[in-house]
Amino acid sequence: MNAALNADLHCHSVVSDGTLTPEELATRAKTQGVQLWSLTDHDEIGGQARAAAAAAACGLDYLTGVEISVTFLHQTVHIVGLGFDATHLPLIQGLEQTRGGRSQRAQDMSNDLARVGIQGTFEGALKYAGNPNLISRTHFARFMVETGVCKDTYEVFRKYLTEGKPGFVEHRWAHLKDAVHWIRDAGGMAVIAHPARYKFSANEEFALFTEFKGHGGQGVEVVTGSHSAAEYLSYADTAREFGLAASRGSDFHSPEESRTELGALPALPASLTPVWTLLADRIQHPAL
Ligand code: AMP
Ligand code: MN
Ligand code: MN
Ligand code: MN
Repeated sequence: MNAALNADLHCHSVVSDGTLTPEELATRAKTQGVQLWSLTDHDEIGGQARAAAAAAACGLDYLTGVEISVTFLHQTVHIVGLGFDATHLPLIQGLEQTRGGRSQRAQDMSNDLARVGIQGTFEGALKYAGNPNLISRTHFARFMVETGVCKDTYEVFRKYLTEGKPGFVEHRWAHLKDAVHWIRDAGGMAVIAHPARYKFSANEEFALFTEFKGHGGQGVEVVTGSHSAAEYLSYADTAREFGLAASRGSDFHSPEESRTELGALPALPASLTPVWTLLADRIQHPAL
């Protein structure tokens, strides 16, 4: 298995903030030419059994996946976990704890938005949440597009849901160390998601990668829907510098909203070690 494999190891279903079911995603991934797939819902592995079964049914190799929300130096960082045992209790409990504050946060966001004249967003967002325990900013964004507050979800994030804007509520997520340990102890690999998205200084980013490695993290997303072509190159350098394996994933959420289709990104640079070469024994192959 090489760098040219069409692996898509990052996407979301209705179990978190995507709009397709795990079964619909498996079929779509297969149609788009994906050869190795992972469903990585936010803070939730409730879709894993369905995703693995659907992958097997359409002849697709599968790795278990999750995207854990972490707070590091006052910013939210996402850590993808791949190839873990989805029945491992400390991982299940850690994720449950991480999801815990989401309802209160959503209420606080709704109250903030009401103060600037936008009413009913908690109930509105809940209507879009396929999983009531996983209300995300994306569900608020969909409701605010539906009600005409903004023209698309990107505009909602820009005007309302990001730091310093009226619907943004500071939240304390998991610790980096815990997230990496939950994944590792369940037999999986921890991967820093879309590093170019964070607004760290060079020193802070160095601290993130150094601490992540120190806790046992092994990978970084290099080719992702969140990166530009220049960022593929700069994080390929980072992967080499820190001795990390490289991952590739679209971060697909929805046919209507996502800019990057499943399986449609360029291949990983050939000089990197793909995460899947280190996870070969964790890949679930369809029965012949
Ligand atoms: P949450 O976990 O509730 O904070 O929501 C995070 C999710 O919001 C991400 O996984 C993305 O799906 C979405 N998101 C975050 N920032 C943006 C943005 N600037 N534009 C569009 N979607 C975003
Ligand atoms: Mn998301
Ligand atoms: Mn993310
Ligand atoms: Mn994601």
